[in-house]
Formats: sequence, structure tokens, C-alpha cells
Amino acid sequence: LTTPILKQPLRDLSAEELQEKIKQLGFPAFRAKQLLDWLYKKHILKAAEAKNLPKDLLKALEGVFTFSSLECAETLKSSDSSNKFLFKTQSGEFIETVYIHQGGERHALCLTTQVGCKMACRFCASGKLGWTRNLSAGEIVDQVSWAIREIKAPIDNVIFMGMGEPLDNFDNFLKAVRVLRAEWGYGMSGRRITVSTSGLIPAIERFAKEAPGEVKLAVSLHGTTEESRQRIMPISKAYPLKELIRCLERVEEKFKRQITFEYILIKDLNDSVHDADRLAEIAQRLHAKVNLIPYNVIEGESFERPALDVMRRFQTFLKESGVTVTLRYSAGSDINAACGQLRLIRETEKKGSP
Ligand code: SAH
Repeated sequence: LTTPILKQPLRDLSAEELQEKIKQLGFPAFRAKQLLDWLYKKHILKAAEAKNLPKDLLKALEGVFTFSSLECAETLKSSDSSNKFLFKTQSGEFIETVYIHQGGERHALCLTTQVGCKMACRFCASGKLGWTRNLSAGEIVDQVSWAIREIKAPIDNVIFMGMGEPLDNFDNFLKAVRVLRAEWGYGMSGRRITVSTSGLIPAIERFAKEAPGEVKLAVSLHGTTEESRQRIMPISKAYPLKELIRCLERVEEKFKRQITFEYILIKDLNDSVHDADRLAEIAQRLHAKVNLIPYNVIEGESFERPALDVMRRFQTFLKESGVTVTLRYSAGSDINAACGQLRLIRETEKKGSP
């Protein structure tokens, strides 16, 4: 068995680290500035594309680093103007990135932070194959440069809602956020970046402490009682709903911007009027808004999506309780755009299932 030669993604490096590296290689500082421009303003994916840099510098860099840690294995276009990119990492794993055209000049990207996931939420395809590894910061932001190249437009909204639990890959996730926000990087506003978490209490607290206000927070709630949440989110056994809510009350102010609760509606599991009532109460306590998401059926689970009128009633109930609520039709359900669905299919094919 031969192991492929893995190179460190060049976009793993911060501006300072890159400057240091270029100095070590014996080149003047302005070369670092030029390279940052190629990486984050022109989104090159190969050394040869950096036209004004000396060949020997590029060669030296290429010996150690890769200008793109990902390859695009597949692009799927949906009828509702979202695309899904299936990327292959250097070590041959598949990850997914979803692009959503929000109309006009608004382009959003949903990023992946881990190959697989440890959380094993029952409604989610990402956890079905377990967890393989964390992505590095460079592998996370390479998704952005690839997407910008493919769609030929800037990305102005980033949501960490692809495969994986971002806060379970804390350091690399935070490094990626800082590259997204840096002037020398993608230059994005923190208001346009949202991290979604299944509710890792210690990581939420760490985030509030170390990076207050850097991005917006979304929390996957999906259940309004300990019992119903634990049925679908095993993580809730370690970090019970009650403690999660208490934690959010403590950190709410640090996030500066309104928290969002995501709530997947699943038939007969969390879609009753009592659920709506409890959800309204939780949202009000935290001054949060609610995103209702119709469940996307995945293989191997018997959950179902509620009927449209049930979902509308649930939404109306929240609205009448004074909660800001949207019923979001998952973009791209015809291209398996829900978190991890396409990868699950491709990995299963690879393993040669019947
Ligand atoms: N681990 C983080 C980020 C992953 S994104 C988290 O749990 O928040 C998780 C989101 O993907 C969920 O909140 C939900 O919006 C969506 N999702 C996953 N599986 C889904 C499914 N089968 N149907 C609809 N939405 C799903």
C-alpha cells in the first residue's frame, strides 16, 4: 500500500506565517503580499497561475505546499439555483459544499468542516459513516476559492452548516473564520458568517470567550423536551437541553447578534402544537429567531416530513406568539443537498454495496 504524498494546504497559513515562510526561502516581503493577492483575491488553484511571481519561489513553495488541497469530483446543479460541489481531498475522501444563489448579487456558501461527524444525529446523513478526521483551515477555505472560481461571482454569505460539527474542530474552524474576515483574506463581514452547532456547551462557551461577536450563532435545536431531543440527537445526553439553554442565556450578549434556532420538522416527533408552544417559549427567553426546516428524507431512517399544512400551522403558531420565524424549504432537495447526503451515496457506491 502506498500512501500518497500529502502536502500542506497553502491556505492553512496566516498572512504572518506566509510572510515568515517567504523570508525563510530568501525572498523579499512584497512577494508575500503578491501571493496573498493571488490566493485570496484571484483564487488561484495552481502555482503556475501566479503570473508575476518568480518561478523558483513557486517551485520552492510547491515542494512543500499545495495551492489547492481539493479537487472537484462532481458538480450538481439543482432546479432551484443551488449547486452542490463534491470535492475530493488529497487523501481521497469526499466532502460536500453547497452553493445557494439567493437572488441578484447574493451568493451563499455552505461549508464543511469535518470528513464525517461524531454527533450521529439520527436525521442527518453526515454522521452515518462516522467521523474520519477534521479538515484543516486551508481545506475549509479552499472550498470558498473553488466555489468562487466555479460560479464566477463573489461569495457574500458563509454558513458553517455542511458536513461535520464546526465547534468540534474548534481551532481549524476559528482559523478559517479569521481568514474569511481578514483584509488580506476574503475580506468578509462577520455579519455574513454563521456557525451552526448541535450544542457543544463547552465549545460554545469557549467561542463566546475567545471570539466574541466574530460570527453569528445558530443552534440546532430540533427538540423541545429532553426526551424528544435525546431521541434524535445523542449529543443531548451529554449536554442536556436545559443546560444548553442556560449556556445560551449566559453567552447571548457576547454574540452581539441575534441567535437563530434551527428546527427540523419531523412528522409525529416534534411537530405538535405543544412543541410549537415550548419552542416559542425557548425562543422568547433567548430573543432568538427560528428557522423551521422541513425534514429531508434520508436512507435508512423511517422519519417523515410533516404535511405542508401541519408545518404552516406550526409556523403560524410561533408567529402569533411573537417569534420571528421562517419556514425554509431546503435548497436543492433534488440534488441531495442536505448535509452529507451525496457523500453518503458516493461512499456507499465506492464500497460496492449491492
Ligand atoms: N453540526 C452542525 C452543523 C451541521 S448542519 C449542526 O448540527 O448544526 C446541521 C443542519 O443541517 C441542521 O440544523 C439541519 O438544518 C440540516 N440537516 C441535516 N440533516 C437534515 C435532513 N435530513 N433534513 C433537513 N435538514 C437537515
